[in-house]
Amino acid sequence: MTNMRLNEAGVDKRETKIKAKDVNVYYGASQAIKSVSVDILDNTVTAFIGPSGCGKSTFLRCINRMNDTIDICRVEGDILLDGADIYDKKVDPVTLRARVGMVFQKPNPFPKSIYDNIAYGPRIHGLVSTKADLDQVVEKSLRRAALWDEVKDRLDAPGTGLSGGQQQRLCIARAIATAPEVLLMDEPCSALDPIATAQVEELIDELRRDFSVVIVTHSMQQAARVSQKTAFFHLGVLVEYGDTTQIFTNPEDQRTQDYITGRFG
Ligand code: ADP
Repeated sequence: MTNMRLNEAGVDKRETKIKAKDVNVYYGASQAIKSVSVDILDNTVTAFIGPSGCGKSTFLRCINRMNDTIDICRVEGDILLDGADIYDKKVDPVTLRARVGMVFQKPNPFPKSIYDNIAYGPRIHGLVSTKADLDQVVEKSLRRAALWDEVKDRLDAPGTGLSGGQQQRLCIARAIATAPEVLLMDEPCSALDPIATAQVEELIDELRRDFSVVIVTHSMQQAARVSQKTAFFHLGVLVEYGDTTQIFTNPEDQRTQDYITGRFG
């Protein structure tokens, strides 16, 4: 609870982890994100919801500069991580992505052993100096991702041989291994069956003890189950952002109301 403090009313107030100010994103001449400003909190699961194509993934990718890898994509505005501009020329995107990890829609383990999938990040970022330290990071990351008991006897087996749900937890463990502060998840359960989905959702709830978690989901039920804050996007605009319970029970904007009641999307 180190990141919690009390505001004047004596209510728990979590620290802002990411502050986006007036962010615009373009693919060529087409604008995908329009003047989005939002404060994303630490130790909180924030869900991005909205109809397909409204810009959820595009905005998520701004937070660890994954859009840098798309040639025609241009990002304007400020995104601050702990108050520091992540688009500053001095910031190395690879180092940034160790601090702001990402888990994708389809589990994408490397074609390597379970052990090496986890060890890869700590090795390239020079986070460990001995084999014993690396073993510890691997075990801790797998435990944190609720996978250790299932794989501890076959760490040399290929990661790609695991079930879909296990592969996704392996990818979460891989993201955790570089000791990130933020975890971005882009529809992390969309390729999983209901049981694996439930396991990953339970894990997401656990992860917020240590991280700021941001999840893109097309499932309103999932957003309601896992998140404390919800941001509703429509046509590239952040229409409404607030406590998840308020967004789903008493939204302020008519467009949010229409979306959550299934009138579009
Ligand atoms: P969502 O995640 O809400 O489905 P996206 O962020 O994927 O929305 O897409 C927002 C808009 O940006 C859409 O119009 C989409 O076609 C466009 N877009 C997304 N990725 C690219 C890309 N790599 N190149 C060109 N346009 C893209």
